[in-house]
Amino acid sequence: MNPQEAWNIAFSQLEIQLDRASFETWLRGAVFLGCTEDGSYRVGVANTYARDMLQHRLYREIRRVLGDVLGDRVELSFEVNKLETVSATDDELPLFRLLNRQPEAPANEVSAPIYQQVSRPQRPDLPESELNPRFTFDRFVNNQANRMTYEAAQAVAEHPATQYNPFFVYGGVGLGKTHLLQSIAHACRERHLRVIYIPSEVFTNDLVDAIRQRTTAMFREKYRSADVLLVDDIQFIAGKESTQEEFFHTFNALYTYNKQVVLASDRPPTDLHTLEDRLRSRFAGGLVMDLQPPEYETRVAIVKMWAQERNIELPLNVAEMIAEKARANIREMEGVFNQLAATTHLSRRPVTIEMTENALVGYRRPRHHQLTMARVLTATAEYYHFAVSDLVGLRRTARLNQARQIAMYIAREVTMASLPQIGDAFGGRTHSTVLHSCNKVAHDLPLDDMLRTDVAAIQAMLLGQD
Ligand code: ADP
Ligand code: MG
Repeated sequence: MNPQEAWNIAFSQLEIQLDRASFETWLRGAVFLGCTEDGSYRVGVANTYARDMLQHRLYREIRRVLGDVLGDRVELSFEVNKLETVSATDDELPLFRLLNRQPEAPANEVSAPIYQQVSRPQRPDLPESELNPRFTFDRFVNNQANRMTYEAAQAVAEHPATQYNPFFVYGGVGLGKTHLLQSIAHACRERHLRVIYIPSEVFTNDLVDAIRQRTTAMFREKYRSADVLLVDDIQFIAGKESTQEEFFHTFNALYTYNKQVVLASDRPPTDLHTLEDRLRSRFAGGLVMDLQPPEYETRVAIVKMWAQERNIELPLNVAEMIAEKARANIREMEGVFNQLAATTHLSRRPVTIEMTENALVGYRRPRHHQLTMARVLTATAEYYHFAVSDLVGLRRTARLNQARQIAMYIAREVTMASLPQIGDAFGGRTHSTVLHSCNKVAHDLPLDDMLRTDVAAIQAMLLGQD
């Protein structure tokens, strides 16, 4: 298998494994550019934002999948792929690529708005509005715990902007928020309403670009022309002042014109602490509903639905085993199911209990007392591409300092080590240094998305290896 083939296989697996919004937004146009001398894979992406997102947030996931395909560890790097951008014809260029192609306007010079420069009607299907065809109401297995939320979502889809505006859905990771939001989007789009579905991070990115490119007028026009605006993972705009400001105005404009706004978040509006009061009360002023983990019977029903859709013969005790063991959330369950589906497909053998047990191995619950300082150090060093000796050494750079603080914080969270023990592991630092680091990270966490992502990723690395 040559590197290009390996990349192609990994790419199609990522399409299944990553959540749809991430894949479509960050990876969709990615191309394999070649290998470096030391065998690291170079991947070209559409813009700097995609590059940064992939590097910081999806790196491990992509490396793991590619590594599995190759049967060996592999490193990757992401680059902005100029070639690909200029080779596409203007007609196919999504709006954000057009924006990217504009030379940066000098700060003190007002350039013409983008729509005058490109003088063509805005495409109705903006890239951020691409929907996962599988996220529809009829594929959302309803259940007692979430019946009201599901029905409210249907009501919103049938009669947007009449009763429940905004409609705010919250719940833990992998419980179907995105699925529900996109179901509303599909239903409204079928009725030819103008629908914009967007993860809040893309909204932020779009805004930052618009400010930089001096196209904020067009930015506003775009979002305010929606009949239904659905913003996913709205918790990520908490703490970002200019985004909140802009969103507040967008929200008010839509509300005034009697348009529907739908929001999803990992926590209720009242818990979005760094959200401005006026936004929080706006959010809370609509209908706020939550998604709970579905009960066992529903989980079995969901697994059965997946098997049926893919024509996989799944014994009932296997479906029950998956529903029983991979219970944290539906995405975790889906991961186990996908692995099983791949195994039976590749081995051309029917699904068995042993096969299922193997697929479940990676999903065991964490046991904290087994986590040692050494493992925290290794995981953090690996995540940031440092050597452990650098992490515990004396050299000071901004990145090293931050990695150290995060490692200390995580050590305090997940190991049984005391403050002085943690300090010792870091080459004899004092317990007050450790405490200071832990407090700093704890303080910054709610305010800093990137930090939260990094901490969560490192913790996931640790808790995943058991
Ligand atoms: P969230 O946005 O809350 O993190 P997602 O909407 O991405 O979660 O859901 C994760 C996966 O679980 C998706 O593949 C989704 O289709 C599936 N899923 C979640 N809830 C249900 C449900 N009630 N019925 C069927 N599939 C579900
Ligand atoms: Mg989601």
